[in-house]
Amino acid sequence: MSILHSHLLNICSKINRILPAQPCVLCGSMSRDGLWCGACDASLPYLDMPHCPVCALPTPAGEVCGHCLSHPPLFTRTTALFGYAFPVDKLIQGMKYGEQLPLAHAFAGKLAQRIDRINLPDHVIAMPLHPAKLRERGFNQSLLLAARIAREHQLTLLPDACRRVRDTLPQSVLPWKERKKNVRNAFVCDADLTGKSIALVDDVLTTGASLDALTHAVRLCGAIEVKAWVVARTLPHSRST
Ligand SMILES: [Zn+2]
Ligand SMILES: [Zn+2]
Repeated sequence: MSILHSHLLNICSKINRILPAQPCVLCGSMSRDGLWCGACDASLPYLDMPHCPVCALPTPAGEVCGHCLSHPPLFTRTTALFGYAFPVDKLIQGMKYGEQLPLAHAFAGKLAQRIDRINLPDHVIAMPLHPAKLRERGFNQSLLLAARIAREHQLTLLPDACRRVRDTLPQSVLPWKERKKNVRNAFVCDADLTGKSIALVDDVLTTGASLDALTHAVRLCGAIEVKAWVVARTLPHSRST
């Protein structure tokens, strides 16, 4: 892990201690509940409705969705904190492009609370960024998320196990059908994961093509079970990324 990343992870771990009260990032009133206040928290689009256990798409009774039945992804379960809707979409964009890094810490803390403590994985791996994009952005938001979640659950984070070897187009600029092709063979995994269960961490799950391609890479290294932990799941009416 780079020195910059270690430094960012360290900063994020101290945020709660140095900011006891602050203006809510959503409404501006003083918040002692974290980056956003309790009233704003109550209005966020938490993914509390029944949903497909595999990909977290809402389904009437929490059954596996039609797409996962006909085209099952390689990962077996998804835990998602939010539906990708306003204002979470803006907050995630702020985290990724506006460098509001404390948001990663806040999201990860909430996501960590949703994770099934009975079936914890052996290792946590973040969705890698291509080195060119990492240089441009200066940080990998998925690694910041994964580091806090791993720490909360005392799991081993493998920050260097996987690499993105193809600098693909952003999935958000492509039609859904082309996203799978765009990320095929985009990832390489160097770790021995024989017999291990893995949780992959990403910010947004839309088609699942990137997570599926990364799952393929970790399974080639011997992982026997792979699940996804994401901040937000794109819902059918908000297919914007
Ligand atoms: Zn507020
Ligand atoms: Zn599904």
